[in-house]
Amino acid sequence: MWTKMKNFLKRFLPVPAKTHHEQMQMLATHMQHMDDHLKKLYEAMGSVRSRVARIDKSVVDQAVKGRKYTDLFYKDTRDKIEKLQTTSCDKIEKLQTISFENRDISIQRIKRIVWQSAANMFRRRYIEQLDFHVVDHCNLNCKGCNHFSPLVKESFADVKSFESDMKQLSSLVGDTIQKINLIGGEPLLHPEISQFATIAKKFFTNARITLITNGLLVEEMPQKFWETMKAHDVCIKYTRYPINFDYDKMSNVVREKGVRVINDWADIKYFWRIPLNISERVFSYRSYAQCPFIDCTQLRNGRLYRCAQSAYVDFVNNFIRVKDNNGDNFRIDTKDYLDIYSPEGLEEVQEFLSNPIPFCRYCDMDNMDTRVPWEHSGRKIDEWVDAQ
Ligand code: SF4
Ligand code: SF4
Repeated sequence: MWTKMKNFLKRFLPVPAKTHHEQMQMLATHMQHMDDHLKKLYEAMGSVRSRVARIDKSVVDQAVKGRKYTDLFYKDTRDKIEKLQTTSCDKIEKLQTISFENRDISIQRIKRIVWQSAANMFRRRYIEQLDFHVVDHCNLNCKGCNHFSPLVKESFADVKSFESDMKQLSSLVGDTIQKINLIGGEPLLHPEISQFATIAKKFFTNARITLITNGLLVEEMPQKFWETMKAHDVCIKYTRYPINFDYDKMSNVVREKGVRVINDWADIKYFWRIPLNISERVFSYRSYAQCPFIDCTQLRNGRLYRCAQSAYVDFVNNFIRVKDNNGDNFRIDTKDYLDIYSPEGLEEVQEFLSNPIPFCRYCDMDNMDTRVPWEHSGRKIDEWVDAQ
């Protein structure tokens, strides 16, 4: 079985350089096969959790070993991926001889680390997904919302600034954005929401425009809104939260208006929590290698950010300041964002989107919890921030 698995892993990543999306799809298929192998492997295992934890940790350590925050690291992406593939295979093979108690945690974790680390090392050639906060606040306020919406007061994006940013971005990257998400907060709270969709489509004709909503206001939207959504083929994407709300009725209303609607997460029960840790003891590369958010590019005030965490952390900083005048701040470095009015061209954008940012040192991926029960936010800072 191990020879088979090794052969499979050798084919694992050196795929022909197609689009990033295709690479990801191939990778996902391979990882599914790998998962099957790992499950079979488990059948042959018994075990000791601490030894697994050591091996598990060493997979990550190996993935980031010796790598510094320099451009050099990413220059030869393919070689690094192959190295990771070999290393991971060796490490997983060692598991064959070591039994362990808790296979679910270990297998899931190894799978996530190998998959995510490899995927995160691809050079980004275009913007796969661009998120734009139409408003920052929300009418649902989920505990630990990773856009920090429960921590902000009402805040609406300006239509003219959005238009100017979209124009500048299109002159910079051409029509290379695959998907534009109008998001928040709750985007339907913005009285001019239709205009954002029109502008996004005007400058990025090939991009898929999606409006990501909690659905609560959908049935109140006026006819003009629906006409615009239909005209620009905007897709309404919603999440089913465990609240007293008729999602089926809501989605039927969208369908009746002739607009596409999809359910993002069926009956979400848990949120992911990636704690921010102000101690800066987290190693940036280690976080980056495991990060599930690196293709969640954010556009905010004429700047591109790698993720919502870095783009909106000022909400956290302001909240800490309000609660405690001496509160520490999560610092934003000039390398944490790219000013779209200053770079020379697409290459600089690609470079920015292919590397970790200094802010990664705050994201404590080792303590990520993917099973935080969904509930309303108590607006307590520990929903997002860990004590040192
Ligand atoms: S509905 Fe979405 S934006 Fe609103 S608080 Fe929940 S997770 Fe955040
Ligand atoms: S700061 Fe880095 S590790 Fe944290 S969410 Fe953003 S890209 Fe991921």
